[in-house]
Amino acid sequence: MSFQKKNFSYFWLSTLCIWLLDISILCAVFTEPSMQKYIRTAQRKLTDLTHTNFHTVPADRKIVTFTFDDVPASAFEQAAPILDQHGIQGTFYIAMTFMEGHGPETMYNLDHLKAIDAKGHEIASHTYDHFHFYQAKDAAYIAQDLDKNTAEFARLGIDQQLLNFSYPFGEQTTLAKKNTHIRFQSSRGIDRGINQGKTDFNNLKAIQLYEGKYPISSMEALLDEFDKEGGWLIFYTHDVEENYSKYGCSPSYFEQAVKLCVDRSFEMKTVAEVVKELVK
Ligand SMILES: [Zn+2]
Repeated sequence: MSFQKKNFSYFWLSTLCIWLLDISILCAVFTEPSMQKYIRTAQRKLTDLTHTNFHTVPADRKIVTFTFDDVPASAFEQAAPILDQHGIQGTFYIAMTFMEGHGPETMYNLDHLKAIDAKGHEIASHTYDHFHFYQAKDAAYIAQDLDKNTAEFARLGIDQQLLNFSYPFGEQTTLAKKNTHIRFQSSRGIDRGINQGKTDFNNLKAIQLYEGKYPISSMEALLDEFDKEGGWLIFYTHDVEENYSKYGCSPSYFEQAVKLCVDRSFEMKTVAEVVKELVK
């Protein structure tokens, strides 16, 4: 073998080794559990481009919506009366699998649902089984679950139509959006932000009312900013009790957040009311 030919073979052999090494590194990196979070973030960003439902949220409006996910009994018992006192209606995204459930928190029961229905609060959907969309096998499974949640409300005699939706764990996959898009007028995610201008109503942004994460002083600063910028600010939380979880807040924190909005004369509406007004 000539020197040149030998050199040529070494070149391809070393290139092949580098490729194999690269592929094995990539495989190792992408199967690493800590990488899953970043992969999902990337997936979510890609999903932002599919099954969109854009409408305009005018910047000269200052609309605030209080929403609850799952929903723990404490939100019905502690937060709803605070909203009622101020004549505000909220949106409760309910996953029926949690009814009368007792885990780390006591969940809602039928009386809770009937009480908020009677007070004019919105009841919305949050899937039946509160499953992970990332693990959902196919569209049929998702469709069945969403229809089951809606059917359960009708079976229990609650007349409200479930018009709006929030993604459990904020997992708005392409398949999720495809299914929620044909069933609901809007779907709320967990991307932090205020909805303003061109807004995807299939992935509404929201702000957490998580007391352990955001002290009330930061909430004040955020609301001052919102007062200047305008748009549609959707709050979301879970439990509202003295021993709040990391996904919730205390009743006093919730009350302060409500008062800060009332003092600034923001428009307080349910998701359904905003959609009705802004979706032409
Ligand atoms: Zn949830």
